[in-house]
Amino acid sequence: MEKTDIKAMHFEEVSESLKSLGLPSFRAKQVWQWLHQKGVASFDEMTNLSKQLRDTLSDKYVIKFCEVERKSVSALDGTVKYLFRLYDGQFIESVLMKYKYGYSLCVSTQVGCRMNCAFCATGVGGFIRNLSAAEILSQIHAAQNDMDIKVSHIVLMGMGEPMDNYENVIRFLRLVNNDDGLNIGMRNISLSTCGIIPGIKNLQGENLQLTLSVSLHAPNDNIRTKLMPVNKKYPVDELLSACREYADVTSRRISYEYAMFGGVNDSDECAVELAEKLKGTLAHINLIPANDVTESGLKSSTPERIKHFSEILEKAGRNVTVRRSLGGDIDASCGQLRSKHINN
Ligand code: SAH
Repeated sequence: MEKTDIKAMHFEEVSESLKSLGLPSFRAKQVWQWLHQKGVASFDEMTNLSKQLRDTLSDKYVIKFCEVERKSVSALDGTVKYLFRLYDGQFIESVLMKYKYGYSLCVSTQVGCRMNCAFCATGVGGFIRNLSAAEILSQIHAAQNDMDIKVSHIVLMGMGEPMDNYENVIRFLRLVNNDDGLNIGMRNISLSTCGIIPGIKNLQGENLQLTLSVSLHAPNDNIRTKLMPVNKKYPVDELLSACREYADVTSRRISYEYAMFGGVNDSDECAVELAEKLKGTLAHINLIPANDVTESGLKSSTPERIKHFSEILEKAGRNVTVRRSLGGDIDASCGQLRSKHINN
């Protein structure tokens, strides 16, 4: 019989489940604290439980942890890229960045990705499977334990498309936010999507104070479809209308990611069109100098072009910043994460 993924369970669920084994409720509290506050990898580390109880628990449950398979540290800015091995031998990557305000971890939500964006390394290996809520959470515990630090901010911008693993992602968000767990505030969490409209609509109803990022990368269908096949299903104008509604209903500003590819989406006309389409809605535009992914053949726009593009947006009254890239020397920047460690 397959063991239950105990770290993906909410406290009440753990409590119920242990009760059915005849265990008193303080046991659920102890187990929960080991799993969520300490982030242990095995039941054997739960030293205030008897050996017999630890054995009973490991017969019935599994802790889906991530082992550090490899770790690269950027000489430029100290960014750490982790390659984690999952319980079934699959690999994912996470990136730990240090900012003035604390540590931010970029976590993966799937092994691989179905979306196949032209510029992204993750899509190259195809889609393998979803991560459970525990496996998303364990990336944080593994990084914290490895570095002996506390992560204060989370971005769901690693491998995978969060909206394509919706239920596990929502479960993860509620678990990571739990006061008796990692207690990371929703306002310190960003979730990035390639633009899956039903996901955006569902998220709107969850009433979470997180930041929604939308990977737009082009102001019209012509260009966007070439870069992002998902655009065929969810075209730009429909996407932006769902975003507008999301911003209206939640009063939360959406962050629009726009990776700049030379000669593809960086013309003055694109800037004007983008400014026009984001008129009158709560929006922040984040321009990202594109990172090299060898398979794509796409190149970043020049710094001068990015500056000019950003000035057009600013003059039109849009809120815009250019993202500083971290971890460039260790292939830890946006879009460079891949699951097969033999590739790099
Ligand atoms: N699937 C989600 C989250 C993962 S990608 C999404 O699409 O948003 C995180 C961000 O990195 C996205 O904005 C993505 O478009 C961007 N990205 C991917 N490859 C990139 C590249 N080569 N250069 C710059 N940004 C890239």
